[in-house]
Amino acid sequence: MKKNFKPMELNEFSFSNVLENLNDGVYFTDRNRVIHFWNKGAERISGFSSKEVVGRSCSDDILVHVDEKGNSLCKSMCPLMESIVSGKPLSSEVYMHHRDGHRIPVWVRTDALRDSKGAVTGGVEVFTDISGQMAGRLRIMELERIAMIDNLTNLPNRRFMEQELEKVFEEQRRYGLHFGILFIDIDNFKKFNDAYGHDVGDRVLVFVSKTFASNSRVFDLYGRWGGEEFIGIIRNVELDTLRKQAERMRVLTESSYIPAGKEKLRVTVSIGATIVRSTDTADTLMKRADTLLYQSKKEGKNRVTADYAFNTNELNNLA
Ligand code: GH3
Ligand code: MG
Ligand code: MG
Repeated sequence: MKKNFKPMELNEFSFSNVLENLNDGVYFTDRNRVIHFWNKGAERISGFSSKEVVGRSCSDDILVHVDEKGNSLCKSMCPLMESIVSGKPLSSEVYMHHRDGHRIPVWVRTDALRDSKGAVTGGVEVFTDISGQMAGRLRIMELERIAMIDNLTNLPNRRFMEQELEKVFEEQRRYGLHFGILFIDIDNFKKFNDAYGHDVGDRVLVFVSKTFASNSRVFDLYGRWGGEEFIGIIRNVELDTLRKQAERMRVLTESSYIPAGKEKLRVTVSIGATIVRSTDTADTLMKRADTLLYQSKKEGKNRVTADYAFNTNELNNLA
């Protein structure tokens, strides 16, 4: 362990919370295979609720694992029992009985539970649904993730941000929740690339993205809009707070750098900040943010222009 490292406090609640919400099924039994804990993943995969199974033995017509030949594993070859008796972890592929009657293929890992002196007090089983449909669903989720993430910066990409914009518009219509947009563009980035090369430019895009992502509030989201342009969707915000948030990102970017030999390479950003209006569409909102950004560029870059700093006539024309 590193010197001066102070382990954070992880209480029982943290662990049981994680266990509860795992995608996998997890259950604990005592030495007689009476179930004491049954997580949400186990409920989802097996169809049996925690209420139905806690206090009962897992051989009690609940899971009744069978192998691919249909042999019941409960009485003689139960992997959980084997782990409890041998004290060793085991894994195997078995078929689990679903509450509705059908069987589901699961990948099962079992191990013995021990008390602080090392004596076996029961067993734990973790099972993963490996049915084709589940595998297919996971594959789709992975493909969706790939399609929505910008692979240089790891920020959500434009497609994702466009969907997210639809979501916040819906929240505004339904619940009257305001949101704001920050349209951010790196200043003189072409020159930067020309001076230091495209690869160094890429590193800058990564560090700027990290600055946005790690300094945002929980409900806010920053994404890469394209090239050296980013947008931030800032939820539940008034113009003054939005302006401050934009200013914070501007200052944080200005004061970050990547070391290159003896040099510290920095970039600055210009930002347009605006709050959604009841008459806005995604298009009018983004156009207004873009115009405000352009204003920041025109006035010398490395600055924020928020709605109210703008000429009201021009704003009316934009709405
Ligand atoms: P301004 O201050 O007016 O925004 O000037 P600029 O040079 O930043 O803007 P311009 O639109 O002229 O140039 C954008 C540059 O961003 C050009 C392009 O080479 C660079 N760029 C866009 N995408 C990437 C990328 O993925 N990696 C790198 N390294 N550069 C990129
Ligand atoms: Mg640009
Ligand atoms: Mg630029």
